[in-house]
Amino acid sequence: MASSQQTKASGNGVSNEAEQYDVVVIGAGVTGLYSLYCLRQLGFTVRVLDEASGVGGTWYWNRYPGCRFDSESYSYGFSFSEELLQEWDWKEHFSGQPENERYLNYVADKFDLKRDIQFNTRVSKAVYDEPKNRWHIETLDGRRYDAQFFITAVGLLSAGYIPDFKGIHSFQGKWTHTGRWPKEGMDLAGKRVGVIGTGATAVQLIPIIAQEVEHLTVFQRTANFCAPLRNGLIDDETQREIKANYPEIFKRCNETSGSFMHEFDPRSAMEVSPEERLEQYEKLWEEPGFKKWLSNFQDCMAPGEANEDYTEFVQNKIRERVNDPEVAEMLVPKDHTFGAKRVPCETGYYEAYNRDNVLLVDVRKAPIECITETGVKTANAEYEFDVIIYATGYDAVTGALLNIDIHGNSGQTLKEKFVDGPRTYMGIQSVGFPNLFTINAASVGNFVRAAEPLVEWTTECIRYIRDNEYTRISPTLEAEDAWVKHVNEDGEKTLRTKTDNWFIGANIPGKARALLTAPDSAPAMRAKRAAVAANGYEGFVLD
Ligand code: NAP
Repeated sequence: MASSQQTKASGNGVSNEAEQYDVVVIGAGVTGLYSLYCLRQLGFTVRVLDEASGVGGTWYWNRYPGCRFDSESYSYGFSFSEELLQEWDWKEHFSGQPENERYLNYVADKFDLKRDIQFNTRVSKAVYDEPKNRWHIETLDGRRYDAQFFITAVGLLSAGYIPDFKGIHSFQGKWTHTGRWPKEGMDLAGKRVGVIGTGATAVQLIPIIAQEVEHLTVFQRTANFCAPLRNGLIDDETQREIKANYPEIFKRCNETSGSFMHEFDPRSAMEVSPEERLEQYEKLWEEPGFKKWLSNFQDCMAPGEANEDYTEFVQNKIRERVNDPEVAEMLVPKDHTFGAKRVPCETGYYEAYNRDNVLLVDVRKAPIECITETGVKTANAEYEFDVIIYATGYDAVTGALLNIDIHGNSGQTLKEKFVDGPRTYMGIQSVGFPNLFTINAASVGNFVRAAEPLVEWTTECIRYIRDNEYTRISPTLEAEDAWVKHVNEDGEKTLRTKTDNWFIGANIPGKARALLTAPDSAPAMRAKRAAVAANGYEGFVLD
């Protein structure tokens, strides 16, 4: 394997020297950090490139007030080091962004990872050089890196999306997307603020900033089903219990479909009496986090009668919390059922609309026409603001990947290849792009629990190639075709494909409508990957 040395780059006229590595990884978030750790353990030379000035990925960029986990903190940490698990004290059951960023810095420092990370570096282009079997990687500021293996750990939700509103740059006040919240913060005290969007991000942000702004206007297009987070501090005794029980916590996460700590009740909601059903709904509603979503009767989360029954229960929970019945009805989703979209967890979200300084505007009825110098113009009114916050989501899963101009060996770019939706094998590799591992795209759920085994599979695959004197890996066309068919056909059976949302690219105008993640449970995906590896990387060509 190559050592990290400088050699003259060939090709497109850039005259500087390319740094040589075995593996280049894009992204210093959870997946990138762990990739670096594993690859280093295996003796590879690695360079991690990240646009940010520090580690953390999602937890670096999302500094908006209220940003926090909705997975239990202790289920979200890395599991690979017992020492780390015992040293780190999570302070809250659902930890906030500042603490999460501190945690990832602690990990990076403990394992001395930062020396192999190049910050403030945005990758613009990557070209596969077939004769040399090297990826040539270029950054916006003209630096060049060459590597045999190329890992994109760029995150599922990192390419922020702002709708193409007319006049967006004419606004004279301050504005930001929540995923690019300024590091120095935003002074919202006493300001007139407009928030566009009511997804999981806005739902965390709104109740916090409502307390400090002079006036807040929320532009809602689609109401969301939100569930109480019920966060709290972790006391000393609980801390001791958590630390003693990590193997059990991780075991439980590994057994559930989304790698969360919660597993469905195997009973059908419809096979128990209405009284028992309601009792279970009420009990779960009082529990913290995703329990009320993921520990319910199993059929509450599949299309059908049980899902509709639970939807009605949640609709009434929303109505109970909002004083003005008209506003309550605006906040009650009626165009999709509970769980069809990812359920945002909230603290005081609905009560925010009981405040005198908060106004909810329905932009489905009167869409936003343009942004003006002074604020937002809808079809029937104009609103003046000092600050506009775009909580308008992400070009999810493929967005950040395809923002990089990636050229494979077929003359096709990855963007061209994915024009009708992702074409991969297991979300990890794509025909025509040898030795490229798109490991952002393959997992969803409790992110760290899903990312750790995926990184281990990928880095073990790279070790296998080296130790067996192969040089490259790429899927077969048959395996890729079969995977795409599986994602599309089995995806159709899931709730996720039943409504417009980012999982199917429906939030981005012009994006192909296709399920962007695997339709399988996390244990099924791990088993599938393990079987593929055990069968000599079945479905891949090694040469
Ligand atoms: P999102 O769920 O995609 O929400 C975007 C919001 O912007 C939606 O309300 C959307 O309305 C609205 N919007 C988009 N274009 C619009 C337009 N032209 N006019 C008016 N409204 C418009 O994005 P997000 O809230 O950032 O959340 C994305 C994902 O990030 C979540 O599903 C979750 O997976 C993750 N997340 C996780 C956490 C956590 O773990 N704690 C926190 C925040 C986010 P429509 O619904 O009508 O499209």
